[in-house]
Amino acid sequence: MLPEFKNFALTDFSKDGNKRRMLEALAKVRAEFGKEYPIVIGGEKIKSGDVLKSYNPSNKEDVVGMVQKGTPELAQKAISAAWDAFESWRRVSAKERAGYLLKAAELVRQRRFELAALMVYETGKNWTEASADVAEAIDFLEFYSREAIRWANPQPVIASPGETNELVYVPLGVGAIIPPWNFPVAILVGMTSSAIVAGNTVVLKPASDACILGAKFCEIMEEAGLPPGVLNLLPGSGSEVGEYLVTNSDIRFISFTGSKQVGLRIIQNAAKTQLGQKWTKRVVAEMGGKNAIIVDSEADVENAVQGIIASAYGYQGQKCSACSRAIVVKDVYDEVIMALRDKTKRIKIGPAENFDNYMGPVINQAAYEKISRYIEVGRNEGELILGGDGDNSKGYFIKPTIFTHVSCDARIAQEEIFGPVLAVIKAEDFDEALTIANGTDYGLTGSVYTTNPEKIKKAKEQFFVGNLYLNRKCTGALVGAQPFGGFNMSGTDSKAGGKEYLLLFIQAKSICERK
Ligand code: NAP
Ligand code: MG
Repeated sequence: MLPEFKNFALTDFSKDGNKRRMLEALAKVRAEFGKEYPIVIGGEKIKSGDVLKSYNPSNKEDVVGMVQKGTPELAQKAISAAWDAFESWRRVSAKERAGYLLKAAELVRQRRFELAALMVYETGKNWTEASADVAEAIDFLEFYSREAIRWANPQPVIASPGETNELVYVPLGVGAIIPPWNFPVAILVGMTSSAIVAGNTVVLKPASDACILGAKFCEIMEEAGLPPGVLNLLPGSGSEVGEYLVTNSDIRFISFTGSKQVGLRIIQNAAKTQLGQKWTKRVVAEMGGKNAIIVDSEADVENAVQGIIASAYGYQGQKCSACSRAIVVKDVYDEVIMALRDKTKRIKIGPAENFDNYMGPVINQAAYEKISRYIEVGRNEGELILGGDGDNSKGYFIKPTIFTHVSCDARIAQEEIFGPVLAVIKAEDFDEALTIANGTDYGLTGSVYTTNPEKIKKAKEQFFVGNLYLNRKCTGALVGAQPFGGFNMSGTDSKAGGKEYLLLFIQAKSICERK
């Protein structure tokens, strides 16, 4: 019996020992800059000859590492290797499969500073966010191990006269795992390990901006003893390799997390049956958000402002759960925007490797340009009271930006920007605030700050989001405690880190024997 699941404790960097270990890890990672990682297919290390470089967004001259770019031929080879491995992997007991994840969890715990340091350099997360991301990965490995064992237990079916009935869960087959860069360890590890521990074999195509972290995780799984072919690593461009995997007739399921635009395309592509295809593909697609925090007239304003800032500017606003709309009831509107501006002004921004910087860079040049374009749009849609400019001479830094007096149907109040840009919207009263909050195509996270129990009750009933928070920030869902996934265009509500998640990667076989 495994001990009961517990979330891994977050690293406290106010302790000297932790600070020192992180500095050492950053130095170690820096000394390895430029290292090359192969494609891994059926345990074989392969070079395609075409290299994909991953840069440090805090300093674009640093090449953090390099991977080999996959091709359609290699994708086909990876899918075949995964099917070969599936034949034996599907027969390995759930307990034994879980054993590999638990071993990997142990390795991740041992290397948590190194992984966090690599994340600081590859994706510009600050120390605290990076170590929380690694902690979440450990949680996923531990949680899904236990879940796999649970789903392998005898399932309840009722008896029928003269017959014995059983129901067992069997894996689906070969899946394509396509994660985003913004939780480069947590989400990648969660998506990959859940599918594997359920008995499937996979081809993992990491996000190009976080491909080194993806390669590192594959090394860890290899070290944990995972049999060859169960996890195949195929970096490469989403529009080439990703698209090839999604449309391939031999792919049984796709687990995707990323933007709405790509997610909807994948859903469509996967729906078209290909010549020789024997199944309808199962698609899990977790997508974007336009998350709102409501500040009611009866709210603790200071708390609310703190929650908005943490949710809007943590990891530069590049979390799917980030707050990008603050909907404030008119009675406290002026007070909230004054406090917001004053507190946000004090945020330190700069290279993520410096512990003092709360905000680092956005992920790449394209993101920098896209966010800058939205800031230009915002200038016509609201009143810019803070930020609005950036500096991409060395890295991709954009100041925390606040637009006030934004109308609820403005573009910056409707479209996901994925950067440190907050639209503040005024509401007449709590009811109107709720209507505005629900008035986008998305439905991922949301928060309500109010001390009024009636309004809390109403929010529970009417705020249509997959993850609702009351009197706290809308980011930072904990595995097991707050299963994560959105409504509407935010995705398929898969609830990662929840009790139903593994069900998405297995199918039920009902067996009846006449006596
Ligand atoms: P993205 O641009 O949609 O990319 C996600 C993944 O899809 C990457 O691996 C990408 O590869 C790949 N891809 C791109 N085009 C593809 C295609 N045509 N077919 C198959 N795969 C393709 O998203 P992102 O920029 O990495 O991540 C940010 C987005 O993810 C935001 O919208 C955020 O809200 C969302 N997100 C949602 C959740 C959630 O749980 N709901 C969690 C985290 C992030 P390349 O990297 O090579 O382009
Ligand atoms: Mg990078």
